[in-house]
Amino acid sequence: MRIDIPKVPADGGWYEEDVPASVLELEADPRVRPGGPISCRFFVQRVSGELVVKGRLGMPASLQCGRCGCFFSTTVSDLSFLRAYDAPEGTETVDLTPDIREDILLSLPAYPLCSSECRGLCAQCGHNLNEGPCPCKPPAVGPGKWSALDKLKEL
Ligand SMILES: [Zn+2]
Ligand SMILES: [Zn+2]
Repeated sequence: MRIDIPKVPADGGWYEEDVPASVLELEADPRVRPGGPISCRFFVQRVSGELVVKGRLGMPASLQCGRCGCFFSTTVSDLSFLRAYDAPEGTETVDLTPDIREDILLSLPAYPLCSSECRGLCAQCGHNLNEGPCPCKPPAVGPGKWSALDKLKEL
């Protein structure tokens, strides 16, 4: 997304653009599937040799839950994007794309959860516990472990 500086209104102006999600280069990340372009809506203003850009951006995405491994739909967004660019007299354009990319990447949750109540997977059979209980018994404590120790003692 490029801003054509000579065309920025004296009092600033609103700019809207959809930036393709391909700029994120997320193809190698199996946990994130962009669901559409990054919608940007910025107020752009020239302030004493600088171009000040503020606004919001968001992208529909499917993220992999860190607990159960399911993909769930959400919107990755930043409602308080703010950047200032050096734009001395004679500067023609400023490219916002690298900062848009960085902003979305920083807005991705480090540990996404499909729900705060996600029950995750059974540690024994891998069953998704959000779909109901599995037949596994709770891990054996006591006899099993101790009998192994007893055997060691006998040796
Ligand atoms: Zn989950
Ligand atoms: Zn199980």
